[in-house]
Amino acid sequence: MEKKQQIYEGKAKKVYATDDPALLIVSYKDDATAFNGLKKGTIVGKGVINNRMSNALMCLLEQRGVPTHYVREIGERDTVVKKVTIVPLEVIVRNISAGSFAKRYGTEEGIVFDSPTVEFSYKNDALGDPLINAYHAVALKLATREEIETIKTYAFRINEILKEFWLSCGVTLVDFKLEFGRLLDGTIVLADEISPDTCRLWDTATGKKLDKDRFRRDLGGVEDAYQEIMGRLEAGLGR
Ligand code: ADP
Ligand code: UDP
Repeated sequence: MEKKQQIYEGKAKKVYATDDPALLIVSYKDDATAFNGLKKGTIVGKGVINNRMSNALMCLLEQRGVPTHYVREIGERDTVVKKVTIVPLEVIVRNISAGSFAKRYGTEEGIVFDSPTVEFSYKNDALGDPLINAYHAVALKLATREEIETIKTYAFRINEILKEFWLSCGVTLVDFKLEFGRLLDGTIVLADEISPDTCRLWDTATGKKLDKDRFRRDLGGVEDAYQEIMGRLEAGLGR
């Protein structure tokens, strides 16, 4: 399968058409952004790591019964995916307080919740991805009530699967962002990516951050952290 015309260039990936109208090729870049594009940089090797990690985790989810857009990895940065219409919601699941949650509610980071939470942001760069509730999402026709229920069910199931997997790698899954999409027949599937760009991953033993917060917060050792988390993933998969 070959890339045809580029149909989109985002902050972290390029998206190409293919000969098959139902399939796309996504190509992962080393570009990194934070704070709605205000901070820009490069994380050398990130595209290769995010591509492989996202694909491995989506395979794991498929094996556990969660439908995803993943089809086939065709290069170190390139993957064939099912084309979907993205539901314009960022679905954020949290196990531990961090980031915007800690800031918004004035709590410290690292408070372990009794049960996970879910929230939605309206995926709209011009508005700065504002927090939105399910009623507002339905009112804005971003998704139906049924779709939102399906998305929440998948999001919590994905959390259980990924939390357990990362724990077996000595890594604590703090929070993460998901995007879902509709196939042509309306079926909801997990799309976009699952990577250190979209998850907070802390070394369970030391608490060391092994994710994009090293870039966002200028903590240093960004590339090393991406390599480290990839090594943990591969060890966890027994590769
Ligand atoms: P952004 O658009 O936020 O800058 P990316 O650089 O990751 O993000 O660009 C990838 C784009 O492709 C995103 O807008 C994402 O919603 C979209 N996308 C991800 N998976 C699919 C898919 N299977 N079908 C169609 N679009 C997708
Ligand atoms: N996240 C993401 N894309 C976004 C916003 C958040 O991938 O546009 C991820 C982020 O990496 C973290 C989780 O979602 O794992 C929760 O992020 P939060 O709301 O705390 O926002 P942040 O402080 O990262 O801006």
